[in-house]
Amino acid sequence: MSLYPIFADLSGRRVLVVGAGSVGARKIEALLAAGARVVVGAPRLGEHVAARVRDGSVTHLDGEFSPDWIDGAWLVIAATRDTRVNRAVAEAAEARGVFANVVDDAALCSFQVPAVIDRGPLVVAVSTGGTAPVLARLVRERLEALLDGSVATLATLASRWRERIRARLPNLGARRRFLEEVFTGDVAALARAARPDDAEQALAAALARADDRPRGRVTLVGAGPGDAGLLTLAGLRALHEADVILHDSLVSDDVLALARRDADRIAVGKRGGGGHTPQEHIHALLLEHARAGRRVVRLKGGDPFVFGRGGEELEFLRDHDIDYAVIPGITAALACAAHAGIPLTHRDHAQSVRFVTAHCRESLDTLDWNALAQERQTLAVYMGVATLDVLRDRLLAHGRDAATPFALIENGTRHDQRVVTGTLATLVESAQAHSVRSPALLVLGEVAALADRLHWFGTPPLQAPPVLPRALRAA
Ligand code: SAH
Repeated sequence: MSLYPIFADLSGRRVLVVGAGSVGARKIEALLAAGARVVVGAPRLGEHVAARVRDGSVTHLDGEFSPDWIDGAWLVIAATRDTRVNRAVAEAAEARGVFANVVDDAALCSFQVPAVIDRGPLVVAVSTGGTAPVLARLVRERLEALLDGSVATLATLASRWRERIRARLPNLGARRRFLEEVFTGDVAALARAARPDDAEQALAAALARADDRPRGRVTLVGAGPGDAGLLTLAGLRALHEADVILHDSLVSDDVLALARRDADRIAVGKRGGGGHTPQEHIHALLLEHARAGRRVVRLKGGDPFVFGRGGEELEFLRDHDIDYAVIPGITAALACAAHAGIPLTHRDHAQSVRFVTAHCRESLDTLDWNALAQERQTLAVYMGVATLDVLRDRLLAHGRDAATPFALIENGTRHDQRVVTGTLATLVESAQAHSVRSPALLVLGEVAALADRLHWFGTPPLQAPPVLPRALRAA
């Protein structure tokens, strides 16, 4: 069942409650609190309802239910113990086009009453469409705990200052930023400390200081390797506050789904080479949005400063006097190693680890192969899928043992993660045999062998095929 949630204004509107026992009494109290003009229909009144009728807050219709009781009512609630009567009420309401709720009988309801967290004027309503009221209640309890009493103070303040805030900050973005600051900063702290007057003064002072043309800023955020759980809390906050998000293709949909809903999302860069948005174009976009006063998040796979061109972007922003901040992310080497069960360093096997990029032959030429071929160290090679043959040849040529273990981790941390293991001798053949594609990270070194024993995530490592490359067979 799919329900359309509404918050109804019942003040001064006639609402019929059929049944005057304890359940009816509870419903009546809630309706009176919302300002409804309550009419109760029943042959007998419970004690509580009788008192309400006596003090004039509720009108009593005496006798058995009659469909004409519904005339003029906006809503009807059936709260009798008699299923036959409840059904008659629901049917009569349906025939007259009036919404009816039958307590504890979802099938007869044309509207449901949600579980409510009331921090007036903030009201949160929770519904499971009548299918799991216990779950709704548990969710309500959690939200109750989350929304302490200070939320009501803040909501009241915001509503009292609404017009003044509007007048002072006509710019929507500026206003939103100001209110976010109010709800999370000093004003909120004073409200939590049960000092509502001080909170109001702090709000007034902040409003006097507020800037209607806020400075834009760019935050470089590391999105991590894919699994949204690996995003940092600071990164999450930046995504919640963003007006614009420029994201790489490596950033997973799960991470993007956490961003503020009405943030503009701009995809820059395509996966696996070819069709990249030129870096100058990304710079121009950063500048344009930041100068328009927006909070720009530049969201990058892994960490922005590990093979992410984050440094170039900061230099550009600095040259153009744009404020910036950087929030690190979990880089592919750390995430892939963890999710493949490979400790990058190990007292017995590796005393150091190097992050290397191998995305083209020129970049390979600049590397110090003597150093890379040393034993007892781990290489984490980024962007290396297309150049595995060069990598193997040079490492062997500089003395790395052909029996050195490797692990290739494709789509690390994602649901489709694959790990291929083997030795340097068969690296290229293994990658081909298992059609390893980008994004994949190569871990090379003694520790890589541990993946076969310590793996825990996804499917077990695929073993390399037992064929030796021709060069080695000839030797
Ligand atoms: N800034 C990123 C790296 C960008 S370079 C970071 O810190 O992780 C892109 C390379 O990162 C890919 O070619 C691949 O080698 C590696 N990579 C990124 N995400 C990956 C993932 N989920 N699984 C495997 N490798 C990944």
